[in-house]
Amino acid sequence: MLWSGWGDPALARELPEQVRALLRDFLGVRAPDVPAVGLESVRLPPVALPEPLLGALAGVVGSAYVLTSHEARVRHTRGKSTPDLLRMRAGDGSAAPDAVVLPGSHEEVAELLRLCSAERVAVIPFGGGTSVVGGLTGSGSGFTGLIALDLGRLDRLLSVDPESLVASFEPGVRAPEAERLLAAHGLTLGHFPQSFEYATLGGFAAARSSGQASAGYGRFDDMVVGLTVATPTGTLDLGRAPKSAAGPDLRQLVLGSEGAFGVITSLRLRVRRAPDERRYEGWRFGTFAEGTAAVRALAQEGPLPTVLRLSDETETMIGLAKPDAIGSGGSGCLLIAGYEGTPASVSGWGSAAARQAGAAVVLTRMGGEPLGAEPGEAWEHGRFSAPYLRDSLLGAGATVETLETAGFWANLPRLYDAVRLALAGAFGSPLVMCHVSHVYETGASLYFTVVVAQEGDPVAQWEHAKEAVNAAIVAAGGTITHHHGVGRDHRDAYAAEVGPVGMGILRAVKDRLDPAGILNPGALVPPPAA
Ligand SMILES: Cc1cc2nc3c(=O)[nH]c(=O)nc-3n(C[C@H](O)[C@H](O)[C@H](O)COP(=O)(O)OP(=O)(O)OC[C@H]3O[C@@H](n4cnc5c(N)ncnc54)[C@H](O)[C@@H]3O)c2cc1C
Repeated sequence: MLWSGWGDPALARELPEQVRALLRDFLGVRAPDVPAVGLESVRLPPVALPEPLLGALAGVVGSAYVLTSHEARVRHTRGKSTPDLLRMRAGDGSAAPDAVVLPGSHEEVAELLRLCSAERVAVIPFGGGTSVVGGLTGSGSGFTGLIALDLGRLDRLLSVDPESLVASFEPGVRAPEAERLLAAHGLTLGHFPQSFEYATLGGFAAARSSGQASAGYGRFDDMVVGLTVATPTGTLDLGRAPKSAAGPDLRQLVLGSEGAFGVITSLRLRVRRAPDERRYEGWRFGTFAEGTAAVRALAQEGPLPTVLRLSDETETMIGLAKPDAIGSGGSGCLLIAGYEGTPASVSGWGSAAARQAGAAVVLTRMGGEPLGAEPGEAWEHGRFSAPYLRDSLLGAGATVETLETAGFWANLPRLYDAVRLALAGAFGSPLVMCHVSHVYETGASLYFTVVVAQEGDPVAQWEHAKEAVNAAIVAAGGTITHHHGVGRDHRDAYAAEVGPVGMGILRAVKDRLDPAGILNPGALVPPPAA
């Protein structure tokens, strides 16, 4: 993973000329390209952890797994939001951990948490490092030091139960590896977020991730049937049946807890039989309102495609649903539908072809124009490539960032308008694109991509706008996040969303599980008042 950007550096992308023209003509981007500083030039604070403590950490995991090198610290500084990348590109490594510690078992994690609790060392669990909400932006302030607890060594498939369709994994397994391991059993998880290439199963659970095929396979939190969690005060082992009436479901307390309550050391996940068939296609609607009504019809009446995404007019025109062919959009609103399936006799859900035909009846009735397979296949081909473009845009003097929310269908237009208005208020005339990204019977999520010319301090410029958007989402009755999570960036808006009683519950849980407050301090729950 590129330390200052996204993905495999070999796949870095030049900006196509039509994108440069768009930046120039539409947004007034004039700045010359500014490359990121070299890794060796990133400014890091000195290592604060005393030698004896580093030795004690090494005593738990082995000295080969306590890293204090410049490179290891840089690579575990922050996540991958645009402000994170802007800071890293400028060489600001002020949030670096003192050390990166790689445990090899649940027992080692538990022992590390006991040690760090006793010695007041802050611990940030680190999965794939793809957080976009400040989930990994640490500070050792008020602590003896700060470590990144990299879960990369916990990377095994532990068991497969083909009868129950449950697979048990360690948390550091990256999504492509999980799919590879399951494919050997004819199974799939079906979780394909845009961060698929790097994010881990533990990170998906900790941040309540949602993938591009959520209409068919569900959100990640739907897939988790059991969890083992190490906390400074002991181990939680949750989930002995798919559903239970035995009190509140404590699994839900761990899902979305973002490393603030404990470290997930294994997960039992519902898996599905791998599909034999995959079909993707495009449809065009005259307006976003018409397209949204069609998507709602599918979500409420069925048949529901596996992938369902509807771009608004601007996103369609720019062609963002096809990142490999940006600039080739068109008018109206592009809907992408994907159908994956096993023969009906196996799954009982109907074949991909049968669901495609059923959905076509609904989409036609709702005013859609079929565009055939090409737009769907182009989306499928480029589904993980957009983040590579962000690096080139940042270098070219444009800030590009995404944000998301969700609401009930009746409130969705209000939410859409509120976010766009807040962005226009903050930036003047930004380029704002949106798509309906995940659908449910009762509502959907809206995923926005914003592009503006960088001015002055681009981090401050973005944070000012983000504050306005957060306030607008709260005021318009949406949730502050549908799948990116809370981290530090959404913490205040989350507190407003759950209210003081809700926040009090979370505080009480944190105080009980993590009395020294070492776990991801400042993420999800505000630090206790001094
Ligand atoms: C380009 C890009 C595209 C993205 N697309 C999507 C998308 O389509 N859908 C989506 O849902 N998200 C998306 N994200 C956000 C991100 O990938 C998700 O939040 C993902 O769940 C993070 O997984 P990770 O393994 O990288 O976790 P990290 O970023 O390493 O950690 C995320 C949070 O979870 C905590 N954590 C990690 N592992 C554990 C553990 N084992 N136990 C306890 N806490 C832990 C961390 O401390 C942190 O607070 C995207 C991010 C990027 C950069």
